[in-house]
Amino acid sequence: MSADTVETAAETVERLRGTFRSGRTKPLAWRRERLRGLRALLTEREAELAEALRADLGKNAVESYASELGFVVNEIDHALRHLERWTRPERVGVPRSLMPARARTVREPLGVVLVISPWNYPVMLALAPMVGALAAGNCVVLKPSELAPATSAALARLIPEHLDDQAVTVVEGGVGETTALLEQRFDHVFYTGNGHVGRIVMRAAAEHLTPVTLELGGKSPAIVDPGVDLAATARRLAWGKFFNAGQSCTAPDYVLAVGDGTADELERRLADAVRAMYGDDPSRSPDYGRIVNERHFDRLTALLPGGRAVVGGEYDKETRYIAPTVLADVAEDAPVMAEEIFGPILPVLRVPDLDAALAFVNGRDKPLALYAFTNDPVTRRRVLTETSSGAVGFGLPNAHLTVPGLPFGGVGESGMGAYHGHRSFETFSHAKAVLDKPLSPDTMRVVYPPFTALKERL
Ligand code: NAD
Repeated sequence: MSADTVETAAETVERLRGTFRSGRTKPLAWRRERLRGLRALLTEREAELAEALRADLGKNAVESYASELGFVVNEIDHALRHLERWTRPERVGVPRSLMPARARTVREPLGVVLVISPWNYPVMLALAPMVGALAAGNCVVLKPSELAPATSAALARLIPEHLDDQAVTVVEGGVGETTALLEQRFDHVFYTGNGHVGRIVMRAAAEHLTPVTLELGGKSPAIVDPGVDLAATARRLAWGKFFNAGQSCTAPDYVLAVGDGTADELERRLADAVRAMYGDDPSRSPDYGRIVNERHFDRLTALLPGGRAVVGGEYDKETRYIAPTVLADVAEDAPVMAEEIFGPILPVLRVPDLDAALAFVNGRDKPLALYAFTNDPVTRRRVLTETSSGAVGFGLPNAHLTVPGLPFGGVGESGMGAYHGHRSFETFSHAKAVLDKPLSPDTMRVVYPPFTALKERL
């Protein structure tokens, strides 16, 4: 296609469908080649991608590599190592009544899939799903977020250079372009973002009976028990919360400090941890990010009066800077406790005991992640069995998503479906059931009508 041809959404999907129908994407050699192309994009064009991430989110290059590029490289290496095994047919037993016969499942690609990604990890959340889609042999339309324009432009420029442009296409744009894409029939839609748009995506997909994966967010709580090492807990929480200036879907949204005195000491320790990580003036720290745009900046600064800042509270509209902020004395019904914060504000709430903490969590939507800092095995068991969330992290936020063997996804309001590692391959492929029975001997004679013989046997 020449550069001056503007392809419509329908034409894009039709073109990719033609590629898929040709069978080109099915051989493992093609899939491996695409995964290696994606890997080359991430390693050879690292500087361009890091610069785009800095422009969009003020991300430090180390943070960009650790949480975005390097993460996808690991996913690719994992897929390359296991692709052969993942694609091998799986034998299953057959009931005696069907013998002799053989049964197996074979994994087939779905076809043309749509990946819609958000702005907060705009490389990782665009390319990690693509790893699974390509490993499974699909064609992919990627719609990056318009709210991270530099990264969106970089992906649109680099992907055609490194991948088969008849099988993978980037469509840039916002609501209009996404709406036009969603009117097309895809074989799977993989959406990461907020639940409001998740509903729009699911409604549009329903028109075509297209299955969806919805990777959504929510308020992920962190329960802190008395008696734990509060200095270490504060460091882990501060790291997990203020990474990417709090704009992480798995970031601890708020803390429930259990029992007398836990909150007071934890608040002090959190303030110490923030100063140790970002200095007395985090606006000067090269390791601290910025808020993505003015709308989110205004939304977040409006939440600051919801409590007493034990550290932070400062902001600067010009540079979209909001200091890492820990809020004490937060009321349950404060606006900061109403919606997912998705920014560098960490409210600490006091609860008298574990029962109250669990009731608090269970009174709200099922979160994407639930964190607990405790030494008590009974508390651990109760947290696991008496709450529901996409994931549970004991002692450490966010890091569960770096374990390729763990499914990453939500439940209820935090989403449906999961990916990473083998789960990505499963998400983007269909397990086709295959039964293979020889015509001779014809053991099926006993079930053919008339059923006289069968009746005698029953
Ligand atoms: P966003 O605004 O970038 O939107 C996500 C995508 O939806 C974009 O590509 C955008 O173009 C598209 N979109 C927006 N409005 C649309 C509409 N009306 N119709 C069709 N498409 C539309 O990102 P966001 O939603 O602000 O992302 C933040 C949310 O995503 C948070 O809730 C966060 O928790 C969640 N999130 C979840 C994960 C996860 O893996 N579970 C990861 C990151 C973010």
